[in-house]
Amino acid sequence: MNHLVRHIPSIHELKQTKQFHTLLQHHNLSTERGTDLLKKVISICRATILNEEWEGPHPSSTDFIDEVFGQTEALARKSHSLSLRRIINATGTILHTNLGRARLGQETMDHVMGASSHYSNLEYDIEEGVRGSRHRHAERLICELTGAESAMVVNNNAAAVFLILTALAKQKEVIVSRGELVEIGGSFRISSIMEESGALLREVGTTNKTHLRDYEEAVTGETRMIMKVHQSNFVMKGFTASVPTEELAELSRLHSNVHYYEDLGSGALYDFARFGIGNEPLVKSVLDKGADIVSFSGDKLLGGPQAGIIAGEKSLIDQLKKHQLARVLRVDKMTLAALEMTLLHYIKGEEQEKNPTIAAITRTKEEILLQSRTFVEGVQGLGNGYTSTIVEGKSQIGGGTMPDVELDTYIVAVSHAFDSSQHIHEKLRRGNPSILTRIQDGVALFDLRTVSVDEQMEILHALKTIQGTD
Ligand SMILES: *Cc1c(COP(=O)(O)O)cnc(C)c1O
Repeated sequence: MNHLVRHIPSIHELKQTKQFHTLLQHHNLSTERGTDLLKKVISICRATILNEEWEGPHPSSTDFIDEVFGQTEALARKSHSLSLRRIINATGTILHTNLGRARLGQETMDHVMGASSHYSNLEYDIEEGVRGSRHRHAERLICELTGAESAMVVNNNAAAVFLILTALAKQKEVIVSRGELVEIGGSFRISSIMEESGALLREVGTTNKTHLRDYEEAVTGETRMIMKVHQSNFVMKGFTASVPTEELAELSRLHSNVHYYEDLGSGALYDFARFGIGNEPLVKSVLDKGADIVSFSGDKLLGGPQAGIIAGEKSLIDQLKKHQLARVLRVDKMTLAALEMTLLHYIKGEEQEKNPTIAAITRTKEEILLQSRTFVEGVQGLGNGYTSTIVEGKSQIGGGTMPDVELDTYIVAVSHAFDSSQHIHEKLRRGNPSILTRIQDGVALFDLRTVSVDEQMEILHALKTIQGTD
């Protein structure tokens, strides 16, 4: 045993010090809480000394006590700070999977505030004075936007897939093309979720080609569903074939008791394809082509809160609403409020203005160039050794959606006379708010597609303050 540990002051001694009282005052801590923090720090010091890794002052010195209280202060600060922190996303990737996917607009957040800081009619019918259903708030809007008879909302699209398979196809066969047995980030696999649900996966076709006859030959008395899964996060090129929605819908109609379900992944309500961006089908068009039921995410291309939206035939949705899992997977009022406002923006044709995801995807190169110029002026105004130039580049949509779409953009490359770009990138990342840039060929790149004017001011401020700090 390392003899140094014997010199570590006791907790009792440490509590008699002036530093201990200062610690309690600084962080408004009770004696118990302050003692707990102190004990944690001492036990770490002790372990470090025992491991012969201690490089600090000798445990019998007053410097050691200062060191201990320095660490306890840091621990108190850390344990009182929030873990979820704001990030300014200057990467240009709009639905960044690691950064919370879609961000919500002001009006949407105002509605979330209103609905959650007050009581609301979440499950109450104000006209009749009786119990109401939480489904109806979003349902009428989803039906209006997609033309569906009926709709419901669950926690996310993974939950929607699970509920649909469990409630409608348990112990029955579900036919899926081998080319669509996808894995979405975070270990969500169609084949695994199907196994969990109790539905029996009937794979047809090959990885690159599946024909209508493959499906036709697979339908038996045990078949309950034909399922099509959107290949969200990858693209197949070359010698490929898949069967269009209309033909699968028609095949299912030939067999009573066989439903046709499409997991749309993103599920666009905005016609991106019409503006030359990708070829994502509109949810409405998939239902018009005969899908009995569809599901999609709330926080991908829709630009709303995390949610799984299910739309389709009333008889099927009614079965889902009645299933025990519906209660398990139900969403909170905050989600419903955010979704309701997001959908209302689509109904009123205000999505481009009020939905940050739609706004960021449809921003033109010219708009981004104008913003980039003001940013460059700002960087030059900093002086301080910074230089910046504007170069052409590409932004990604992200979130496993439209993987082959690259949006033309302009990017501001920032460098510094004495500081490396890697260093700038790291200091910005560790700042508050954290600022994320791209690093390419040793240069820090800012794609302002995903940066608001206010955030741009914050970036300039951060660039100024990080010089001279470490
Ligand atoms: C993203 C995605 C899911 C999962 O949706 P979440 O909302 O992330 O749960 C399921 N299926 C497909 C095809 C997807 O693209």
